[in-house]
Amino acid sequence: LILGCRGTLGGAEYLKYKDPKQPLNARINDLLKRMTLAEKIGQMSQIERENATADVLKTYFIGSVLSGGGSVPAPQASIETWVNMVNGMQKAALATRLGIPIIYGIDAVHGHSNVYKATVFPHNVGLGATRDPALVKKIGAATALEVRATGIPYVFAPCVAVCRDPRWGRCYESYSEDPKLVKEMTEIIPGLQGDIPANSRKGVPFVAGKRNVAACAKHYVGDGGTYKGINENNTIISQHGLLSIHMPPYYSAVIKGVSTVMVSFSSWNGVKMHANHYLVTDFLKNKLRFRGFVISDWQGIDRITSPPHANYSYSIQAGIHAGIDMVMIPFTYTEFIKDLTYQVQNNVIPMSRINDAVRRILRVKFTVGLFENPFADPSLADQLGKKEHRDLAREAVRKSLVLLKNGKSTNDPMLPLPKKAKKILVAGSHADNLGYQCGGWTITWQGLSGNNNTIGTTVLDAVKSTVDPSTKVIFSENPDPEFVKQNMFSYAIVVVGEHPYAETEGDNLNLTIPYPGPSVIQNVCSSIKCVIIIISGRPLVIKPYIGMIDSLVAAWLPGTEGQGVADVLFGDYGFSGKLSRTWFKSVEQLPMNFDDPHYDPLFPYGFGLTTMPSKAN
Ligand code: BGC
Repeated sequence: LILGCRGTLGGAEYLKYKDPKQPLNARINDLLKRMTLAEKIGQMSQIERENATADVLKTYFIGSVLSGGGSVPAPQASIETWVNMVNGMQKAALATRLGIPIIYGIDAVHGHSNVYKATVFPHNVGLGATRDPALVKKIGAATALEVRATGIPYVFAPCVAVCRDPRWGRCYESYSEDPKLVKEMTEIIPGLQGDIPANSRKGVPFVAGKRNVAACAKHYVGDGGTYKGINENNTIISQHGLLSIHMPPYYSAVIKGVSTVMVSFSSWNGVKMHANHYLVTDFLKNKLRFRGFVISDWQGIDRITSPPHANYSYSIQAGIHAGIDMVMIPFTYTEFIKDLTYQVQNNVIPMSRINDAVRRILRVKFTVGLFENPFADPSLADQLGKKEHRDLAREAVRKSLVLLKNGKSTNDPMLPLPKKAKKILVAGSHADNLGYQCGGWTITWQGLSGNNNTIGTTVLDAVKSTVDPSTKVIFSENPDPEFVKQNMFSYAIVVVGEHPYAETEGDNLNLTIPYPGPSVIQNVCSSIKCVIIIISGRPLVIKPYIGMIDSLVAAWLPGTEGQGVADVLFGDYGFSGKLSRTWFKSVEQLPMNFDDPHYDPLFPYGFGLTTMPSKAN
């Protein structure tokens, strides 16, 4: 067998790019020089799942498909449905002239969270509270397996935003307000992609194999620093500030071999990031030597200019010139392809820019192993929601809980709670609601309410299965004050918090506990000893109630494994989480972060009381 030379082999032409024994660059060069302009621009296009018919994939040589914001093939779709869908698209792509596989991407941002029965891990704000990068790395590896089980090789995660203002609706996707902690949490990247070999060239994407996925550090850069936390808004900061606060996670993501970087919808000092040649090309690609591909956000190029003064051609030119390689162009791909083709043919956009983009996309596709293993590996089917992953998520929940107050006086701690009691009250809208526990980016884009959309354990389920069989557990979402007074409860567990949201819909200037949370706290805590558990994507206004509350726990958005909450509450494990964000006194103080000169928090960044596991258990 003569490899490396042209000729025919068994009748079929020898294609260097299809030969895994060839060096990566030789494969890329060989394939690139065979490609027409249409095939190149097709590779740069990523379209929504529902548009990706075999016909469209073949006609436009589409390079990538996505499930944006949780778009699923069917509610509660089975693994088989997912696998058949992705494999079907892959077959169409492989049937094109050059047979370049597609790369399918999905928002698996806290586990494979759009997929029914998947393990849903705590959102990043909670993982930040664990202070445990090694745990986060394991979560990455487990997520990769669950994603691969559905035939998908690429995730739009991690979000490495440094959220500097909790009014931002995406604050929970950020590990912390502290760039150092976010940087440490980029350990999720080698978890998702596998460990980068010691001798790797800096900036070159790396994916270990069929049990790993390509990752995406997002949203480059400064998404967490916008004015008043308004989503997709303007981040007003000096270059020094940008490089010191928002850039550090990208340095480490690039060093760890991240495959892709997603550009932010936001602007830096008035310049849209999608049109920022300096930050995307000069800084990320040239200075940091990032060799993977840069992907736009969802219709991000379209938004460079917008109605009523939209100029789509200019937007495309600006975005591609800035250095965007793959364009998330969910619906308007025909216009995009036509326009970009025209601009290249007329030398508005140089061919060298197109070649750079395609080279980077092919580099990731070769690295992921898509040419050798384009289809789902059936042996991974049992990975979705498996016991070991749920145990890992439960451990993450335990470690993410931050104990803010433990009893009315330090001499008389209330937690851990006794498992054996006569009668206890579990109250609040969030005590028995899996959808609320999971938050946004779960099953749907904005998240859901209720217990029927996926599999998991609520806090109420967990309390019931943890207490002594002789303990009577009474549940009431919004108990009447008289009912609370008359029943001789030993203590109450009150679970309140935010309702699910994602992106702009979560922007909030008040940050109050939604109705009827405050009245439940008042009604219960005025009569009996209570522990308040807050399920939320960020600190909320709690100061007005703090005096009446006996104990207070921040549980963030813990995901499907509510059992982790009971593990710690009843002392099977101790509390150990530390605030990944400053807990403010009032919203008038915002933005306020740990490094501000006039720092006056209710609970400072890094705060968290500890308890020892209970001997009584
Ligand atoms: C979000 C991204 C996400 C993309 C695809 C965008 O609206 O900003 O974080 O990856 O949609 O769903």
